Amino acid sequence: MEFRYRCSQCDCTYEIDPALMLCPACSRGQTDDQPLSGVLDVDLSGEMDKDFDVFDLLPVEKKYFPPIPVGNTPLWSRVICAMSEAETPVHKG
Ligand SMILES: [Zn+2]
Repeated sequence: MEFRYRCSQCDCTYEIDPALMLCPACSRGQTDDQPLSGVLDVDLSGEMDKDFDVFDLLPVEKKYFPPIPVGNTPLWSRVICAMSEAETPVHKG
C-alpha cells in the first residue's frame, strides 16, 4: 500500500511530507480573501495486506490505547480499574 498527496485542483501528486499542506503550484496565486488553493488529499494505492492492522497507520503504539469495551456497553471506570497500575493513564491538571 502506498500513500501520496494528491492536489484537489490539479491532480498533481507529491511524496508525503508533514511540512507540505498545499500544492506548491496551485497555492502560488493564493490571495488573502479567497479559500485555500491546492488543498492536498491523501491518495492510497495498492493492495491491503491480509494481516493489516489499523494501528500500523497510527502515530501512537497499540500498547498505549486502552481496551475499548464492545457489546453490553460496560462502564469505562470498570475497564480502568481492571488495568494494571503501569497501564493506567495518568491525567493531571
Ligand atoms: Zn495543484
